[in-house]
Amino acid sequence: MRKKLLRDGANELSYEIRGIVKKAEILQKEGKKIYWENIGDPIQKNASMPDWMLEIISGLIQENSTFGYCHSKGVLETREFLAQKTNTLNGVQITAEDILFFNGLGDAISKLYQFLVPTSRIIGPSPAYSTHSSAEAAHANTTPLTYKLDPENNWYPDMEDLYLKIKYNPNIVGILIINPDNPTGMVYPKSILDRFVEIAKEFNLFLVSDEIYANVTYNGAEAIRLAEYIKDVPGIALKGISKEFPWPGSRCGWMEYYNKESDPQFNALCQTLDNAKMIEVCSTKLPQMAIPRIMKDPRYLPYRMEANKAIGKRAEIIASLLGDLPQLTFNKTYGAFYNTIIFKEGVLKQGQSLTIDDPKFKALRDDWVSEDMPLDKQFVYNLLASKGVCVVPISSFCSDLVGFRVTL
Ligand code: PLP
Repeated sequence: MRKKLLRDGANELSYEIRGIVKKAEILQKEGKKIYWENIGDPIQKNASMPDWMLEIISGLIQENSTFGYCHSKGVLETREFLAQKTNTLNGVQITAEDILFFNGLGDAISKLYQFLVPTSRIIGPSPAYSTHSSAEAAHANTTPLTYKLDPENNWYPDMEDLYLKIKYNPNIVGILIINPDNPTGMVYPKSILDRFVEIAKEFNLFLVSDEIYANVTYNGAEAIRLAEYIKDVPGIALKGISKEFPWPGSRCGWMEYYNKESDPQFNALCQTLDNAKMIEVCSTKLPQMAIPRIMKDPRYLPYRMEANKAIGKRAEIIASLLGDLPQLTFNKTYGAFYNTIIFKEGVLKQGQSLTIDDPKFKALRDDWVSEDMPLDKQFVYNLLASKGVCVVPISSFCSDLVGFRVTL
């Protein structure tokens, strides 16, 4: 007989955001026009890299040096450039040694948990970008540990909830912050970020800050980076180019370690991540080589400002459509390119359905929707089969709220 292959809990791993896409694809095959309002890939949402960036990249392809391996931690020139950029924030001071490249930030997120003892937990937001919550859950072989983001208070973290959960759970070793946040589109003020640091200090925790959207802000907001407010607490900033260049297909993201020498165990974690990358050899080299060339280019900042302005305009359109409806809790967004909208209690009811004229689409909807599903998922399947609008139920983001995320 074959020996057991999967470790306990491994088959629980799922990425619900894809589940809705599969359903939308079935409808599309059956002839339904689909409006893809679920997508986190800017290229699929009709954004494109400007010609000057493409020229930089094709110039690099002509250089033979692009094709070999690079240092296991990443291209030295790029790590030096990025370290210097972080140091200009006048917070922590780092060197190229404090930077480790991965094959996309998703890769970095899963690797982060790989070496932690399963009982050591990183508490993260709810709702949360599901790669984080799934990776945390998979490592601990249980449900993810979360603190609440409050839709009634600008989607700011409920710091009392966070504090109490940490106080009564000695297994927590770290706190995850996503700023700007996916799925809420919120950007946090300094007072909240300082409170994260105070709590981390009080309970001897490290901080992890996902800053993949740090340069995707609008409505006058600016994202404050972990490097600026962390003081002497150990931490890791997670960064990447998928959203801001935008080049999600580059599969290029990186970690920046802050204050790693202040804590021997945290330092050992960083060292272990570095060693693990050595076993893999290295991460994708071409995008790493492109980073300093693109970011140093005088066209880069104006390009980003224009792109952010366009996202801000789309945020205004959503606000004008849904912002004043009494059935919804709606928050204006400031960063990333999503808005998460919550149904007020009692608005969605079990068994409610939208009219679907075409019997083909109606049959599919009837097949998909069941009463044991979260109400927001039922709503999303109804909306998809009825109007062809594809959004993501908020229950897919590790949340028991009832709502949906729409891409701007
Ligand atoms: N972190 C957040 C908050 C994201 O929204 C995403 C992608 O949507 C990622 C990380 C993953 O980025 P990457 O394309 O670099 O894997």
